[in-house]
Order: sequence, then structure tokens, then C-alpha cells
Amino acid sequence: MACAPVVPSRSTERDSKPRSGDRFMARGETAGYGSDCLESPGRGERCVSNTGLVSPLPGLRASGSNDTPWLPPWATNRTPLAGLARESSRTTKIWLASSATGKLASFLSAAILIFCATGCNPEKEQGNARDTESQRSVLLVLVDTLRADKLGCYGSDLGATPNIDDFAARSVLFESAFAHAPWTLPSMASIFTSLFPPQHGAGGRFPDFTVLSPDAPTVAEQFQRAGYATGAIVNVDFLTDTFKMTRGFKDVDAKFYGNNIEMRNATKTTDAALAWLKKHGHDRFFLLVHYFDPHLVYNPPAEYRRRFAAPEDREDAAWVFGKRKDMIDYRSGSISFDDETIHRAEKLYNGEVAYTDHEIGRLLRGLGELGIETSTVTAMTADHGEEFLDHGGFEHGHTLFNELVHVPLIMYAGAGTVPRRIKEVVGHIDLAPTLCALAGIEPSPTFLGRSLVPHLAGKPEGDHPVYMEGNFWGEPTVGLVEGGRKLVAQRGQTAQMFHLAVDPKEQMDERSSDAERANYMLQRLKTLRDRMLSEGVPTPTPPQMSEEQLRRLRSLGYIDSKSKP
Ligand SMILES: [Zn+2]
Repeated sequence: MACAPVVPSRSTERDSKPRSGDRFMARGETAGYGSDCLESPGRGERCVSNTGLVSPLPGLRASGSNDTPWLPPWATNRTPLAGLARESSRTTKIWLASSATGKLASFLSAAILIFCATGCNPEKEQGNARDTESQRSVLLVLVDTLRADKLGCYGSDLGATPNIDDFAARSVLFESAFAHAPWTLPSMASIFTSLFPPQHGAGGRFPDFTVLSPDAPTVAEQFQRAGYATGAIVNVDFLTDTFKMTRGFKDVDAKFYGNNIEMRNATKTTDAALAWLKKHGHDRFFLLVHYFDPHLVYNPPAEYRRRFAAPEDREDAAWVFGKRKDMIDYRSGSISFDDETIHRAEKLYNGEVAYTDHEIGRLLRGLGELGIETSTVTAMTADHGEEFLDHGGFEHGHTLFNELVHVPLIMYAGAGTVPRRIKEVVGHIDLAPTLCALAGIEPSPTFLGRSLVPHLAGKPEGDHPVYMEGNFWGEPTVGLVEGGRKLVAQRGQTAQMFHLAVDPKEQMDERSSDAERANYMLQRLKTLRDRMLSEGVPTPTPPQMSEEQLRRLRSLGYIDSKSKP
């Protein structure tokens, strides 16, 4: 494939429209921040007073009003949720029709050309016949509970992740990637569907879970329809058919155990992935590999325990942290952990991260040994992070602070990839459209995210607002990242705003010192959420779980032993 000038891709055409985020920043920086909101009550964006920022949390229910809706501008010409159900059957027909008319080929060419334009490596490409084909395979590596700041490529000095760091050095790393929820089920569902949590319906709240809406197409379904071999190697019930999360995966290799200590570890997960790749690696494939090791309990293999654990724990494999009963008691507030215990636990967690990194390295080397590395788009991210007293708490699912929602996102797009670091804010909903674009298949029209192909080509198009919500436990919380700030509003608490560039650890609440901006963001957050809810959200549907599944989730501390989901 020869280099060619940049040509407009579909995503660039769509995103060339003015963006609210840009307008927001322009007004904020040059024309008086927030005046837009304050001076335009006629638009329906009624600004709240400082005292009005206190609970109840705005936007936790549909307003029913006719407020001027605000949605991310890339969604304004779409129907992100309303009518999804009635459009779902039509969606399939549209997709089939468009792929049959050659739109796919032109879309693919545009996507690859814009990516190639600033960094083709013809010599490298000539060595791999797959690069001349029109479509690429995809390997999606999802690491459960992996904090971005534990990776060397994200600034850690632990030395725990040489393999991921090496992968990042030849890939495109997104420095400001965010999950849309701080726990597994809704976060993974946003990755799969390119929708925000209220729109895809998967999540709920401890212990009342809800399954993925049947009207939210998944990225795996897109690849399956395009004729790809699709496989998922997963290690938690939330990623199974029980929660309707395996739609589109022909092969589902799910391994669970009756407790949270004997889960399939990273070695066995990599073994399963390599076995699947030996069978399907020379077909067009879409493979999801889910690593669970950094999740509780923390019990790294001896080699990693010796390297990373606290001195008193290095030779004592008996001390594992995060057993079920302890976590349930901790969440309920009946017990607490002292700081020393949490710091000891964090060191074990670091060992789990290092062990997982080792196995990810083995997986990536396996691609090379199969001769498919440069013909495969490889993306790595995490569903959420983990807190170690960053804001006084522990574990995940309970806040929207960066230790839980700032996630690693690293993408290698095959031969010709020019390593970069991207500063612009992106969200997990952008992943599915990007994988489709890089592979050369049509994204679902329901995907709300944007293709990041321009970012990969070194032509990022600026930030887009990122919506997020929780919580799995603790008080319900919503958040918005926009204009370099994150606003977090938790029920029963005063909203907080943080300047992420100067305060990435979110220790200095700027809501009072920058009240106009905070009020503006709060109103935008409310409007976005009201809009999503007023357009209709999936009816909460509980999963049908067997006694065995209930027992497993209880073993992970996800269900109180006295609760019925
Ligand atoms: Zn998770």
C-alpha cells in the first residue's frame, strides 16, 4: 500500500461541525466564561445559583421539561437512544445495503489513508501480505481494574509494566482516556456499544444488576456480520450471556470458579488466547481477551509477590487481600481498613499488575510468532481503576475520581503505525467506532462515539465531552469531563470541579473559586442527562442467574449473601 494524501474520512466530515466543547472553551478563555449560560435564559438553560448546587443531585431523573437539549455535537444528527428499539431491525438492513454498494471500500480507504498519510512505512508493509488486503483483524485486550498510573508509559516508576510500555512505545497512547463508569458491567458495555450507561442499560446498582439492552448493537456484532471470526476469552460473569454481553461473539471461553481466589489467571488466559489465535489468527478475526488478575483478591504469583509486596508479605503467600466477607463488611461500613493495611494491599496489587503485564507481553509476542502482528489492530484498555485511599476510600465502583475512571488506552493499528502520545480527551465510547474504521468495516449507526483515526494520524480534533456515572455502591454520582475540567456531582453532596491539567489527582475543588464555570458545567451535565432520560432508556431488566452464578458473584463480594439480585 502506497502512501497517499490525507482524504476526508466519514468521521472527519461529521466532526468538522462546530463543537460545543470548542465553543465552551472559546467563551471561557476569551469572552468571559459562562456568560453564554447566564445570558441566555431563553434557551432554557437556566443557570443555578451557588446555593443551588447542593443536593438533590440534578439530573437523576428526567425533567420532563422542554429545556433546550444539549448533547455532544457528534450525536446531534443521530438518535442515540430514542427510537433505538424501533430502528434496530432497520439498522441491520441499512448496514447490509451499504456494505453491498461499495461504501465500505471507500470508507476503508479513507480510514487507512488518513492514518497512513503522516507515517507510512512501505518497507515494513511490503513484508506482510495481509497489509494489502482490505480488512484487518482486531485484538482487544481489556484488563480489569488497571489504574493508568501504574503503567510506566503513564508515568509510573514502579517498573511493573515493561511489556505494556514496549507496546506503547510503538503505538498511539491516549493520555486522557476516560471510562464512563467506575465498575465492570456498565463500563464494559459502553466499550462494546459505544453508548453511555443510561443508554445501553447494563449496570444497575449493588445488588440490583441490569442487563445490556437488546436494542444496543455491539461492536462484536458488527465484526461478526462482516464475516469475522469472533471470540471472547473472559473471566467474570458480568461479561457473559447472563448479562447479554456476549452478543456477536461466536466463541465464548468463560472460565469461573466458585471463589475469588482461584479465578483463571493471566497465564491460563493468555494460553487460551494463543490457542484461539492459532486456530483463527490467519482468518479475519475479532478477539476479546479479558484479564482479571488486578481485581480483588490480590494474590500475585510468588515471583511478583517477592518483587512488589511489602517486606513482611514477600514470603508469606497466606496473606491475600480482599476476601468476600471483608469487602461486603467494608462496603457496608461495618469494618474499616487502616491506612497501613491498604498500602500493603496496594503493593500486592502492583504485583498483580506486573504479572498481568508479563502475560500481555507473551500474548503480543504470540501475534508476532504467528506472523500476524502487523496485520492486526491491537488495542489495550481497562474498564476502570482502583482506589487506594486517593480520596479516602478503597476498591472501585464508588466514585468518579481519576483513580477509577482515568484508564489506559493504547492502540497499535498495524503496519505503518506512527507512535504518538495524544493529549486530547477521549472516551471509551470512541473505541468501537475506531476499531471498525481501522479494520475497514461499518460501525453501527447507533454508535455514539467518534472514530479516533484522525488522532492516530496525528491530527486530533480536540476534546469531546465525556459523560460518566456510577455508582455500584456508595451514593449515585454523575460526572462530566469537558474543557480541561471534571465536574462530579454526588447525591447528597455539593458538586465538585477539578482542573485536570494542574490537579490530575483531584485534590483541589474549584467549584467555589470558579463558580461560574462550575455552574455552567453542572447545567450542561444536567441537560445531557435529562436529554438521555427523556429520550427513553431501556427498561431495567434483571439478569436470570443460576444458583451457581449467584454463588460466584457473592464470592467476589458483588452480592450480599442475604440479597437477591
Ligand atoms: Zn472491572
